[in-house]
Amino acid sequence: MRLRKTLDFLLYQWLDVESLSRRERFADHSRESFDAVLDICERIAREKYAPFNRLVDSQEPRLERDAVVLPQATHEAHRAYVESGMLGAAQDYAYGGMQLPYTVNASANAFFALASVGIGSHMLTVGNANLLLVHGTPGQQQVFAANELSGRWAGTMCLSEPQAGSSLSDIATRALPDGEGFEKDPLGPRYRLTGNKMWISSGDHELTENIIHLVLAKIPGPDGQLIPGTRGISLFVAPKRLVDAEGRLTGERNDIALAGLNHKLGWRGTTNTLLNFGEGKFPVAGRAGAVGYLVGRPHEGLRCMFHMMNEARIGVGTAATMLGLAGYYASLDYARSRPQGRPIGASGKDATSAPVRIIEHADVKRMLLAQKSYCEGALALELYCARLVDEDRTGDAESARQARLLLEVLTPIAKSWPSEWCLEANSLAIQVHGGYGYTRDFPVEQYWRDNRLNMIHEGSHGIQAMDLLGRKVLMENGRGMQLLAARMQETMARASAHAALASHAAALGQALGQVGAATQKAWASANPTEALANAVPYMQAFGHTVLAWIWLDVAATAVAQDPQQAHSATVGRLGAAQFFYHYELPKIGAWLSVVQSRDMTCATLPEEAF
Ligand SMILES: Cc1cc2nc3c(=O)[nH]c(=O)nc-3n(C[C@H](O)[C@H](O)[C@H](O)COP(=O)(O)OP(=O)(O)OC[C@H]3O[C@@H](n4cnc5c(N)ncnc54)[C@H](O)[C@@H]3O)c2cc1C
Repeated sequence: MRLRKTLDFLLYQWLDVESLSRRERFADHSRESFDAVLDICERIAREKYAPFNRLVDSQEPRLERDAVVLPQATHEAHRAYVESGMLGAAQDYAYGGMQLPYTVNASANAFFALASVGIGSHMLTVGNANLLLVHGTPGQQQVFAANELSGRWAGTMCLSEPQAGSSLSDIATRALPDGEGFEKDPLGPRYRLTGNKMWISSGDHELTENIIHLVLAKIPGPDGQLIPGTRGISLFVAPKRLVDAEGRLTGERNDIALAGLNHKLGWRGTTNTLLNFGEGKFPVAGRAGAVGYLVGRPHEGLRCMFHMMNEARIGVGTAATMLGLAGYYASLDYARSRPQGRPIGASGKDATSAPVRIIEHADVKRMLLAQKSYCEGALALELYCARLVDEDRTGDAESARQARLLLEVLTPIAKSWPSEWCLEANSLAIQVHGGYGYTRDFPVEQYWRDNRLNMIHEGSHGIQAMDLLGRKVLMENGRGMQLLAARMQETMARASAHAALASHAAALGQALGQVGAATQKAWASANPTEALANAVPYMQAFGHTVLAWIWLDVAATAVAQDPQQAHSATVGRLGAAQFFYHYELPKIGAWLSVVQSRDMTCATLPEEAF
């Protein structure tokens, strides 16, 4: 099953996205227009992205005379993406968008991630523009967001600093009002920024005429000191090249200097940069200090940033999923063509017989089925979350409220589960290839390297786990968790009607009970140090339970439509679901055991004992 067929099943049979076209916002759409978008993206990804995936890995971005050089293929892929209209596809018609449902938009973007995750970083540009459309002034929206959505300019997110990654409360970039009348600038209250931003993706390149940075910085208090904690953080929009109120370049560089390119393990097609703000390399009006315009109110920068977190995290989860699927498809092709070894029959091996293809060995099938269950399950989860985003935006008040709550609980899983398990899928894809998989003659090692990023950025694994157990499952007295449990119960009831799924439904019920009990026990002493000491095993168990639910729901739809299991796609889906229930779900017992006993083995081992 290749991506398009899987997507078609999930979108149209499972999630019924066609029904969205009955909503006012999507009234101009139909399956025809959804298919047209998917067709175009699939084609551009096949022609402009996939053939260059290895090239962008081997020809890393480099610096020549203060400019970042990227392969010509990257420029062409970028142009094709912009021309497809995908940058603003989900946006309002007023911004040149197509008012496409986010679920279809995310599905269409999946083709690019599958073909070459490293070539583009459009997600940042779109996220940047979307944030400005919510929190920016009309001037900022017209000048910055509109030009980003048209593809004229690109966007970044500048949060991290060399000394502050997970702990953004420790950022040290300062913002000071830019002289008399600083509040009256048509582009928003004007500040001067000083500080260093580390790890900034697409922080510098020549793909677009300008780069629009969204920057977190602190405005000092009346005593001149930075306010400790996240309370002091504000958000600014700072263009690489200064512009006037009509969006024309003034010809002056902003004081933002590229201090260096980071050389990464993978995802090498995208630049990753250390940017120095306000060091005086490009003085503005004769003074050091990068010009930045306040977005939203002072000290509310993180709140504004969080606005785009759900989509950014669904985007990261989808990228991890696509890398997993790319490895799965490659290893499936390899396993179907590589002859090696002979099967073990009842009387052992027959050395005189011809070797079989490795897909005929049970252990290779195990590795393929593991990849299929991780990656197709993760894809279903991402699309389910994307559908919740559409519900949040266009559903009636009650279903929008439920969608929001569910997204709160599911987003850490949507980001982290594929980052961990689709990476494991990539490792299995290498294993299926044997020694060849460990070489650069085959693509799977690159998929693994590219995917290794996803557990690190957008909130590292450990931070996501603490967010889940420390905040999300507790918020609103556990209402999000209760709602999720209710959705799982609905699926169990639906699935129990099918003989092939009844035992899975029972297993899911047990798993749900185990997760609920472990959550209670983790917090039984009301001591966060104890509760959160095993947050990652908790997230692993929670994530596996969510994926078991997703698989059961997908399988229930598949079997309802094809009760005789006449199609190999149905047999494959039921096989992947069974694999997940037999080989994966039982793992949650071990993970939850340390959670519920509040095991302090790791937390209390003295440093000297390591
Ligand atoms: C390729 C790449 C692209 C990136 N792109 C961007 C970008 O565009 N914009 C941007 O702003 N940032 C970006 N980042 C930065 C990324 O978000 C950070 O790397 C991430 O937040 C982790 O911060 P850190 O690297 O400083 O690690 P640290 O915060 O030092 O963490 C190191 C380890 O310690 C753990 N840890 C830290 N604190 C705790 C805690 N309180 N409890 C338990 N464990 C903890 C972490 O989980 C992690 O495993 C990018 C990073 C990379 C590698």
